[in-house]
Amino acid sequence: MDDVLLPPEFRTWPVVPPEIRAEPGKDIVWVDDMPVHGGIANHRTYCHLCGTLLLSHFDYDAQFCPCCNLWVKEKCGHEKCEYCADRPERPLPSRQPAWAVPGR
Ligand SMILES: [Zn+2]
Ligand SMILES: [Zn+2]
Repeated sequence: MDDVLLPPEFRTWPVVPPEIRAEPGKDIVWVDDMPVHGGIANHRTYCHLCGTLLLSHFDYDAQFCPCCNLWVKEKCGHEKCEYCADRPERPLPSRQPAWAVPGR
């Protein structure tokens, strides 16, 4: 079942964003203990749902929110786009959104 995402002002649960650690020069960014081939987006932009700093996923050339575990944009729609073809539904497949993990 899909997560229900509401704008922050309608939230009744606290948002606990994951810890982000970039490794400059290595093209790796850590989302808590999960390494991702990516980095912090050039122009610092923040998730409009939870306010977490957005990351770029280099495998799919796409920005995502590591807290909501959502892509910022839909796939581009080009049939033969090498980036979008293999893009999973979620940027961090094995991760629940941070705010959905009980006890955090
Ligand atoms: Zn978010
Ligand atoms: Zn594309």
